[in-house]
Parts: sequence; C-alpha cells; structure tokens
Amino acid sequence: MKDKNQRIKYGFKKILTGSDLSLRKLAIMEIDSGIAGPTVWITAAVHGDEVGGAAVIHEVVKSVRQKPLLKGALKAMPIMNPIGFEASTRNISVIEEDLNRSFPGDKNGRLSERMAETIFSTITSTKPQLVLDLHNDWNKSVPYLLIDPYPGKEFKTTHYIARRLAFTSGFLMIQEEDESDSFKTLSGSMIKAGIPALTLELGESYVVNEKNVRDGVSAIWRILSELEMVKPDPALELFFKPPKEFLNKALSYYDGPKSQTSGLVRYFTRPGEIIRTGETIAKIYNVFGKLQETAVAEKDGIVLGYPDTAVSFPGAPLAAFGVL
Ligand SMILES: [Zn+2]
Repeated sequence: MKDKNQRIKYGFKKILTGSDLSLRKLAIMEIDSGIAGPTVWITAAVHGDEVGGAAVIHEVVKSVRQKPLLKGALKAMPIMNPIGFEASTRNISVIEEDLNRSFPGDKNGRLSERMAETIFSTITSTKPQLVLDLHNDWNKSVPYLLIDPYPGKEFKTTHYIARRLAFTSGFLMIQEEDESDSFKTLSGSMIKAGIPALTLELGESYVVNEKNVRDGVSAIWRILSELEMVKPDPALELFFKPPKEFLNKALSYYDGPKSQTSGLVRYFTRPGEIIRTGETIAKIYNVFGKLQETAVAEKDGIVLGYPDTAVSFPGAPLAAFGVL
C-alpha cells in the first residue's frame, strides 16, 4: 500500500573536495509520513569495514516504502564513512582516524572531527527521539545491542529512554561500563546532547551476512513499532534468539580469559552458546602441536564472539561474553 502523504527524499551533505577535485559526499535518506510524530535516525558504516548496516537500512527503507510510516519521520545515513568503506577499513583510510571516536566533532578540527561535526549537526538539527547506530563485529559473533555507559544525572532520562527501547529489540543487551572515550562515539555524544541513542552490533564485518541483516531489520522494526511509527510484524522473527536466561536483562561485557601463552588457538565453544565457569573455551598449541594451555571460562555467560585471528600471545583476550 502506497501512501500519497509520505514523502521520500534522497540527498547529500558535502564532506570534502578531493585532490582530483571530486566531491566527497555523505548520502542521506529521508522518509516523512507527513503526520506529526517521532523522528528516528538510523546510521551505519561509521567504521568503513562494517558494511552490513547499510543493507539493513536499505531493507528498512524498502519496507517503509511498501508499508508507510504511521507517523513521524525516518532518516538514515547508510555509509557515514564512505572513504573507509571503499578501502574496507575501519578508520577514515586516508588519515587513519577513527570517525567513531571523533564526536561531537569540530568544524575546524581534524578531518574525522569535521566529518563527525557534519553528521552530528545534521542529526541533532532534526531533534530526533532516537538514533540507532549500526555496527559489525568479529567474523564469529552474534548480534547484540550496546547501551551506552550511564552519562550522569543530567542525562539520566535520555539514558533511561534509550535503555527502555533497547528492551523491546529482542536482542541480547550489553550495558557498557564507563570508558574515557565512550562519549566520543556517535551514540555517546547523542546521549550527551539529550538524544536517546543505541548501538547495534550485527555480526561479522567486511561482508553482508543476510541472517544478520534480517535480525537487524527485525530489531529495528520492533523498536519502531514500540514508538508506534510502524505496525508490529510478527513474521519478523530473529535468526539468533537469545536464550531466556539472558533475555530482557542488561548484561555486562566481559572479555576474557586472557591467554597466558603464545600459539595457535583452537576454540571449543561457539558464539551464542551459554558457557559455565570452568568449561573449556579454547586450547592453545605451540608450533609443534604441543598443548600449551587450556583456557577455561572464569564466569557464567553467553559467548558474544571471538577474535578474527587464531594467534594468541600473553595477555590477549580469547573471547567476549555477556555476563549476568
Ligand atoms: Zn564499529
């Protein structure tokens, strides 16, 4: 069903002019229902190698074109870091700066800060009710949602709203601990601007995994239906359904155990599995195949993922968990 009141607009913001005089731009998609209601932004590929979120945005927009918004507006930036995207790198490849540690940005700062400022001011000028920032993680990882660290009393309500919406996603939820640069991220800077924001980690980087795309669309649709912007769609099931024990709880992030030796890592657990204290996570072998170490879980938790390389060295975390 098409809705003639719904307006769709695709456009650009300028990032910079290249040395060959080519214009580098930030692509923006806007769908306005024409009916008063919340504005929600979905953003992706702030890390250039985390490409899956762009496909999630394309699918959400496709759905909203077919089933128009009930109210409000949906806006999206499918590729925030086009320079990193084209080089398949996390950072802005030409300067090796992390765009997602450069918010809220600075018009006169480094390139990453200038790009961050363009993104930040474009989003905040629309006074949105929510920003959903889509990321990807290790090759071996399950989708989960990150709730920013508690931002202090002043932004308590903003944080609370974000957290409440996170609970409607159906995803595993990780409550992040305070870190020195956590408010330099897009979501962290939004919360400090009084705008609820969440980060979705949608499985592997570099390639589009269709199952993770589907889970991303599903989680976003649930959140949009909670905001009464779309009708709930019971057909949108999650491929990765978190086990009951870990669902509807804000989990802590735990990366460990730390390897004590160097060598080749072989895993005995998979992302999404529940693991109990004392169970084997991985074994580490030396170059001749001799067992160096058996790494066991130090806490009960659910495996979120493990690193992309099988190389261990002393002090390297072997996996990441959500723990109760
Ligand atoms: Zn990322």
